[in-house]
Amino acid sequence: MADIAERRGRGWCTYHGRVTEARKRVLLAKPRGYCAGVDRAVQTVEEALKLYGAPVYVRKQIVHNKHVVNTLEASGAIFVEENYEVPEGSTVVFSAHGVAPEVHEQARERNLKAIDATCPLVTKVHHEAKRFAAEDYDILLIGHEGHEEVVGTAGEAPRHIQLVDGPDSVDNIVIRDPSKVVWLSQTTLSVDETMETVARLKTRLPLLQSPPSDDICYATSNRQHVIKEIAPECDVVIVVGSTNSSNSVRLVEVALGAGARAGHLVDYASEIQDEWLEGATTVGVSSGASVPDELVMEVLGHLATRGFGEVTEFTTAEERLTFSLPQELRRDMKKAAAAKAS
Ligand code: SF4
Repeated sequence: MADIAERRGRGWCTYHGRVTEARKRVLLAKPRGYCAGVDRAVQTVEEALKLYGAPVYVRKQIVHNKHVVNTLEASGAIFVEENYEVPEGSTVVFSAHGVAPEVHEQARERNLKAIDATCPLVTKVHHEAKRFAAEDYDILLIGHEGHEEVVGTAGEAPRHIQLVDGPDSVDNIVIRDPSKVVWLSQTTLSVDETMETVARLKTRLPLLQSPPSDDICYATSNRQHVIKEIAPECDVVIVVGSTNSSNSVRLVEVALGAGARAGHLVDYASEIQDEWLEGATTVGVSSGASVPDELVMEVLGHLATRGFGEVTEFTTAEERLTFSLPQELRRDMKKAAAAKAS
């Protein structure tokens, strides 16, 4: 038995007394890749380039994906860190992660034409923060320190918001009135870890209120749910995504937590190392919400050349949500279409 188990571990198994190579396969997670907010943000830059011509300035990475940023850069987008780097009077797009009100203010001061590509699901969290701050609540924002989305949300109500970066930072919070405190969260966190943080918070603050609706967005939850389903069957999980993409990094963590024997994050298929596949029979593949599917197809192509040509897509949800482009851009597109027609 030990011998068979050992052979299985190396990708071989016995069948009717003969030793045969185990079937190598890929379990492909669905949903994966682009979410509605990322699709909208990328289209916003593409349409802005068509409408206003290059260059179009983009404050921060429009979405956290190296390939997307490089592709838009090649088309004429210029990525900057702050508004002061944008020449006065130019067009600037704000990224999907959202910005604090002071960023809009700086844009007005520099006479910039600002197009806000903040995901509407992030804007929803901003509205919640403003509403609870107006009612003088203490707001515990669960999220990762320094992440752009957290900086933007905290900027809506800096005097009311405290950051809670994981279960271990619960002890550091200071509350004025334990009956008037609510938690909100970054949209791209691990669902399970967030619930653990909330449980810890509730042991200290039994009257803690929850957000009116889930702040962790549908795309984050769906991608984590499907990877959890396939992970126990996988010798290795490969997630396509960039290291600064919160939801992509979480997918690797969730896969490992759910039983995958190994997990790796790659921007491109060429980063996959052959030793990751040694002895593996089942490889799980998924991608973060900012990743175009062409990169996943390249990963499948690469795996096929290593004997993993059999691909089974494992679906746990269908996503149909779409968002319309930012209002300021749609208005200019309409004007341009009307001018062309007349
Ligand atoms: S991951 Fe969620 S919150 Fe972030 S852009 Fe996509 S849909 Fe919006």
